[in-house]
Amino acid sequence: MPRGTRRLATLGAVAVGGMVLAARGLGPAQLPVAEALVVSRAFVERADTVRRNETLSELFARQQILGTDLLVLLDAWRADLNPRRIRSGTVFEFRIPADDERPDRVRVRANDGTFLVADRGSAGRWVASRETITWDVEAERITGHVTSSLYATLDALIQDSVLPGPARAQLAWDLADGVYAWQIDFTRDLHPGDEFAVLYERLTSSLGEVRYGRVLAAVIETAGRENTAYVLSDAEGRNAYYDAEGRSLRRAFKMYPVQFRRISSNFSAGRLHPVLRTTRAHLGTDYSASVGTPIEATADGTVIRAGRWGGYGIVVALRHAKGIETRYAHMSKLASGIRPGVRIRQGQTIGYVGMTGLANGPHVHYEFIKNGRHLNPRRVDLGDGEPVPAAQRAEFEAVRTALDRQLGRPTVAPSKAD
Ligand SMILES: [Zn+2]
Repeated sequence: MPRGTRRLATLGAVAVGGMVLAARGLGPAQLPVAEALVVSRAFVERADTVRRNETLSELFARQQILGTDLLVLLDAWRADLNPRRIRSGTVFEFRIPADDERPDRVRVRANDGTFLVADRGSAGRWVASRETITWDVEAERITGHVTSSLYATLDALIQDSVLPGPARAQLAWDLADGVYAWQIDFTRDLHPGDEFAVLYERLTSSLGEVRYGRVLAAVIETAGRENTAYVLSDAEGRNAYYDAEGRSLRRAFKMYPVQFRRISSNFSAGRLHPVLRTTRAHLGTDYSASVGTPIEATADGTVIRAGRWGGYGIVVALRHAKGIETRYAHMSKLASGIRPGVRIRQGQTIGYVGMTGLANGPHVHYEFIKNGRHLNPRRVDLGDGEPVPAAQRAEFEAVRTALDRQLGRPTVAPSKAD
C-alpha cells in the first residue's frame, strides 16, 4: 500500500491509490534497463534484459545460473512467476559475490508494488522473498482558463516532470468521462476563457516512477455556472463524485458510449421533403473512434437485440427503465456474452467500434429512443443525482472542506435545505 502524505491521510485516499496501481499493469517498455554497477568491494550487481524471442534459460545461462540450479530457483518463485509468461523487456538483477562467479541473489519486478527476490541458500537451495515498492501520494492543483479543448489546455499547463503525456491524457479523459460524464458535454459546453481548478493525485514510487491517480476535486465553469466535484469512496471502495451541495454527479445515463475522437454527425430530426425527397433525418449521434475501441452501455439495461440488422451493421440495442431504448451501431464485433436477454451494467463493454452496415468510416452511431420516439441523446434531461448517503454526510462535509482549502476555494457553508 502506498504511503500517504499527511494532507491526504484525512481523505482515506491511500487505499484507492493502491487499487489504481493494481488495475494498471506495468508494461515491459516502462521497465528501466539498469547499467552494471559496482556497489561495494564485496559484490557486483548486474542487470540483464530478456531479449525478443529469448527464453529464461538463455538469459540465466549468461549469468551463470544453469540446469538444476535454474530449475530450483524458478521452483522457489513458482507461486509468483510463470517462466512461460515472461515478456521481452523484463529486467532481472543479479548480485555476484567478489569471490564467486555465480550470483547469490536475483531480483525481478513482479508488478507495480513488488520485487521478487531469490537468495542462494546452503546445499543448492534458493529462498524466495518479496520487496515492497512504496508509492507516495500527493495532491497537485492545476488552475487556469480553457484555451481550445480541455485536453489541450491541461497538456500545455502540466509539465512532463509533473505528469508524463499519457498520464495527462488520462486525467483529461477522467474529467470528461469519469467525473463530469453526466454534467458537461466537453465538445459543446466548454468554451475558451472558461475557468477551471482541478485537484488530482500524483503518485511517485520509491524508484522515481510517476503516475496519475484520480481526480480529488474540481470546479469547472461553463456558461457562468460552476460545476463542482468532490470525491467520496462508496461502500465498495469506488470513487463517487458529488457537487458542493452533496448531490451525486452520477445519472442513469452517460452522455457518451465511447472514448471518441470527434463527433462526426449530430442528431437532426430533419424532415423528408414530400416532393423532393432529399432531406434525411439523422436519428442519432455519430462518435468517430478507431476500430476496436470498446463501446460501453450508457446505462443499466437488458440486451434486446445483438447482431446484424440492415444498415446498422452489427448493432446492440438495450432496453432501460422508463420506456427508454439505446442502440449502438456499426460495430466491428460484439463483446463476448452479449446476446438478447443478458443484463448489462452502465459502463460495461458491449462491443467494439467498426464500420459495418452503412458507414463510411469507423464510428458509433448512438440512438436514444423514449416511448418509441428518437430523441437527441445530447439534449436529453438526465435528471437529478442521489444525495450523499446519510451515513456518509459528516464524512462528506469534512472531505469537501479539506478539498476546498486545497483547491484555494472559499469553504461553502452547509446548505440548510438538506
Ligand atoms: Zn449515424
